[in-house]
Amino acid sequence: MTRVLRTPIFAANWKLNHGPTDARAFMQRFLQQVPRVDDRSLLIFPSALSLAAVVDAIKDRPDVIVGVQQVHTESLGAFTGENSVVIARDAGARAVLVGHSERRHLFGETDEATGRKMRLALDARLIPMLCVGETLAEREAGATEHVVLRQLEAGLSALSVAEVSQVVLAYEPVWAIGTGRTATPADASAIHGVLRGALRSRAGDRAGHIPICYGGSVNRGNVAELLAAPDVDGVLVGGASLDADGWSAIVRTEVAH
Ligand code: PEP
Repeated sequence: MTRVLRTPIFAANWKLNHGPTDARAFMQRFLQQVPRVDDRSLLIFPSALSLAAVVDAIKDRPDVIVGVQQVHTESLGAFTGENSVVIARDAGARAVLVGHSERRHLFGETDEATGRKMRLALDARLIPMLCVGETLAEREAGATEHVVLRQLEAGLSALSVAEVSQVVLAYEPVWAIGTGRTATPADASAIHGVLRGALRSRAGDRAGHIPICYGGSVNRGNVAELLAAPDVDGVLVGGASLDADGWSAIVRTEVAH
């Protein structure tokens, strides 16, 4: 059983930034600085409106995977304004973020919706990256493990054991996203270990091959020590992925394993 993605994983979430013009300029500069890699996975999640620009830029770079940040709970139909797994795949996407905290907390994405989206993503042959993470209030109430395990179970609820081994997880504490506050490597590792344990009870030995990324104010200064922590198989990065030079430096990080 091999991993779905080679680790470490470096995933850039551009959120609502970089239109097609900026995306083209970013990709040109990024691809110049980062020659083809085979010892790590590189993912970029642009705005859906910039997907075509990124897909075009990576046509000679099979080592770079592009994904969408959000999809609807139905594949096709009368859902004005939504993105679809089927259309995303047709447009060149190979991955999708599911349950990002901004979707959960700003747009009301429910646990149930994440389960449905994970199912649709695998049906459409997209790699789903399921994001889980607790708010500051939940952390202070000692509920971190309960929250991330609930989100994990809901996200995986419609998947078979074999399918569970095709997903990628991202632990993103909400209090660390875009705030400049990062979980310590030990804190991240502890929660990743809890997630790994839950994956093991669902998927047995295959759980060891499911990548678990950390996200939340990752930058050039802290990425190496986070990636060196046990059970941290990659990073999902928002703010620090927006600058092509900075992101190039991050994805070239030496990883001690
Ligand atoms: C994110 O958007 O997933 C994220 C982790 O953002 P930031 O790196 O800006 O905290």
